[in-house]
Amino acid sequence: MEKARILVQGIVQGVGFRPNVYRLAKDLELKGCVRNLGNVVEIIVEGEKSDIQTFMRDLKLKRPPISKIDSLEIQWLEADTSSRFIDFQILESSKNFSGSSVIPPDVATCDSCLGEVMKRADRRYNYPFTACTDCGPRFTVISSIPYDRERTSMEEFPLCPECLVEYENPVDRRYHAEATCCPFCGPEVYLFREGRIESENPIKEAIKLLDEGNILAMKGIGGTHLVAKTTEDLPIQDLRRRLGRMNQPFACMSPSVETIRSFAEVANYEEKTLKSRNRPIVVLKKKKDYFLSPNVAPELHNLGVMLPYSALHHLLFLYTDEPAYIMTSANKPGEPMLIRNQEIIEKLDGIADYYLLHNRKIINRCDDSVVRFRGRELAFIRRSRGYVPEPYDFSRIGKDLNVLALGPEIDVTFSLFKDGYCYVSQHIGDTTKYETFKYLQEAIEHLIAITKTERIDMLACDLHPMFFTTKLAYELGERFECPVLKVQHHHAHAAALSMDWGVEELICIAADGVGYGEDGTAWGGEILHSWGAEYERLGSLMPHNMPGGDLTTRYPVRMLMAMVYPHYDKDELIGLMKKDYLDYFPHGKPEVELIYRQLERGFNITKTTSTGRVLDALAVALRICGERTYEGECAMKLESAAYQGEDIFELPLKIFKINGRDILDTSQILLSVLEKKIEDESIHNLAFSAQKAVSQGLAELAIRAADRTGVELIGGSGGVFYNEAVSMTIKDVVEDAGYRFLQHRNSCAGDGSVSMGQAAVAALSRK
Ligand SMILES: [Zn+2]
Ligand SMILES: [Zn+2]
Ligand SMILES: [Zn+2]
Repeated sequence: MEKARILVQGIVQGVGFRPNVYRLAKDLELKGCVRNLGNVVEIIVEGEKSDIQTFMRDLKLKRPPISKIDSLEIQWLEADTSSRFIDFQILESSKNFSGSSVIPPDVATCDSCLGEVMKRADRRYNYPFTACTDCGPRFTVISSIPYDRERTSMEEFPLCPECLVEYENPVDRRYHAEATCCPFCGPEVYLFREGRIESENPIKEAIKLLDEGNILAMKGIGGTHLVAKTTEDLPIQDLRRRLGRMNQPFACMSPSVETIRSFAEVANYEEKTLKSRNRPIVVLKKKKDYFLSPNVAPELHNLGVMLPYSALHHLLFLYTDEPAYIMTSANKPGEPMLIRNQEIIEKLDGIADYYLLHNRKIINRCDDSVVRFRGRELAFIRRSRGYVPEPYDFSRIGKDLNVLALGPEIDVTFSLFKDGYCYVSQHIGDTTKYETFKYLQEAIEHLIAITKTERIDMLACDLHPMFFTTKLAYELGERFECPVLKVQHHHAHAAALSMDWGVEELICIAADGVGYGEDGTAWGGEILHSWGAEYERLGSLMPHNMPGGDLTTRYPVRMLMAMVYPHYDKDELIGLMKKDYLDYFPHGKPEVELIYRQLERGFNITKTTSTGRVLDALAVALRICGERTYEGECAMKLESAAYQGEDIFELPLKIFKINGRDILDTSQILLSVLEKKIEDESIHNLAFSAQKAVSQGLAELAIRAADRTGVELIGGSGGVFYNEAVSMTIKDVVEDAGYRFLQHRNSCAGDGSVSMGQAAVAALSRK
C-alpha cells in the first residue's frame, strides 16, 4: 500500500476538475481526498503503486474539456497505517487562500447541453441559458474570486430544488457548475421595442422579424450583437447607413460547417478551429459561387464566419433556413460593446428595429475573437472571447515581479504579469474614445481583483508621450508607487513574438501601420535585433513624407504623391495626379496643388517608415482603394486584388544604406508600378507583384541583419503579417536563405499583443 500527495496547477477550478478526480480515483478503487488550495488542487491518494501511477496518467489524459494542466507534482508519503482513508472524498475548498487561481474563459455550449436544449422531454428544452461544468460562460460572469456562484452574475438566480440536486452531486455534470440554471430558476429572454413584447417564444418571433428584413440587437453571453439577414442587400445597407460603417466587413454566424461550405472555402484546419470550444470568428475565402450579399464584406476575397457558441444562437437557427446572419458587435464606432439593457435600448435607438434582451448581467464584456490562417498557420487577429483570461507562462522571466502594461492607443489590450503568468486582457479598443478609455480603467480594476493582485512593481506603456494610456500609466505609477517604463512600439512587437516562442533573441521584421519611434518619427517597417530587454534598429523601409499627418492615412493618394515627389518634375506630377487620381482628392485640383506646395516647403510634414502606408499608396496607385474608412482597408483590398493575380511583372528591388542602416527603397517599387499600364487586365497581377516586392524587400533586409549579427532566428510581427501572401512570401525568402522564420502562434500579430511585449520588456529590464 502506497500513499501520495499530488499537486495540480493550471485551469483546474470551476471546470469540474475535482469531480473528475473523484471519478478517476473511484474507478481505480483508490482512497483519499481532493480539495482546492487557492492556486492548486491537492489530491491525496492511497492504493497500489501501479494504480497510483495509472491515476497520474489518467489525470493528464482524461481531464475535463475546459481544464488545462500546467504542472503536476507528486510526492510519495510515508504510508502510515493509522491514518488510512476509508473512501475517496471531495473536501470543501479552503476559503482563505492566497495566490491567484486561473479563471477559465467562456466556452461554447457542449454537446450534452445542446442535446438537452433540443430534446422535447427535457426540462431545459428550448432554454437559451443551458450550461454545465464543461461549457458556458465563466470570465464574462465572474465579479470576484474564489469562483463561486455568489460572486457571479448568477447570484440573482437562486437554484431551484432540481438544479440544486445536480449542483451538489459530485458525479453530476453540473456539480458546482456556477452558471447552471433552468427555465424555472434562471434568466429569461424577451423581445423589446418601445416596451416589452409579450410572446410565447421570443426567439422564434425575433427570427421572423429578422427574416422580414428588420435589424435586431441581441444581447448574448459576453456582449451584444447587431443581427441582420445576409441573403438580401437591403437590410445590410440599412445597417451600414444607420451605423455609418459603409465598407467595413461584417462577421456572420452560420448554423453549421456544411452550411458555411455553401458560400466559403473551409479547409480541415479551419473547420477544426470553427468547431473548437473557443469558437472564434474564422476569416475564410469566399467561394467562386459565393451567394451571400456582396455587402457583407465588400470588395474583399474573404469574410469572417463563426458557429453558434451559446444555446441562444443554436435556437435562433432552429426557426429559419437562412444560411447566415450578420453578427457584428453592437457599439457606436470606436466605443465598447454595449452590455447593459438600458444602454442597449438607448444607444441603439434608430439603429436596431427590435431588441432581444435578457435579465442576466454581463459583468465583463468580451468581444468575439477573430483568427485567420496563413497557409496552415493560425493567426490571431483578435484574441478575446473563448481565450481570455487564460494566461501565458512567463515563468522564465521570474515569479515575484508584478508588472502592469497598458498597450498602445488604438487596438488596445493591457497585460498583467504576475506570479510568472502574463494575463493579456480582452480586446479593449480605441482609447482615444472616452467610453473606451473608461472601459480600459474598469477592465484593469477587474483583472486586478480576479487575480488577487495586491501590488504592482512596475508600469509599462508606449513611448508616445501623448497617448491616454501613457498618461494613465503615470497615474497608476503614482498610485502603486512604482516606476514607469516606456517601451518603443515595435520593440514591444518583437518582445511579444519572442515570448510567444520562448526565445531570447531574434531579428524581428515589425511591419504595421505606425508606432512612435525613438527619433520622434512614425515607424512601421522596421528590422530590429531584439534580445532580453534591449533592441537595436538595423534596417527599415525608406522614410517618406506624410503631408498632412493623419490625413495621409485616410487619403492614401497623399502618400502616393509624397513617395514619388522626388522623381517627377512639378508639372509632370501635378499632371499625373489631375489626370489619373483626381477622384481621390476630396477637394479636387486645388488640393493637388496645395499638397505639392506642402511637399516643396516641408510644411506640416512628418516622416514615416510605415509598411501600411506603402501598401496604401500601392492600393491607390492601382486604383483599388482611394479612402480608408476602416483600419487596414486599403491594404486588405490590395491583398484581395492580388489574390486573383500572378507574378508576371518582376519588380526590381533597391536597398541602400543610411547611417549604417539598410533601407529598402519603396519609392522604386511604386515607380515601377506607375510605369506599367494600369488597366483592368493588369491590376491584379500588378497588385500581386507589388505586394511581393515589398515582402521580398522586408525579408532581404532581415536576412542582411541576421547575416551581420549572427542571429539565427528571424520573426515577423505587426498587422501586415495578417496578409497571407505577404507573410508566406517573407517566410519562403527567409527559409531559402537558411534561417528559421517565426510568426505569432498563440498571440496577436497585430497590436493586440503590444501590451504583452511591453510587460515582457519591463520584467526583463529588472532581471
Ligand atoms: Zn454543457
Ligand atoms: Zn433550476
Ligand atoms: Zn503595431
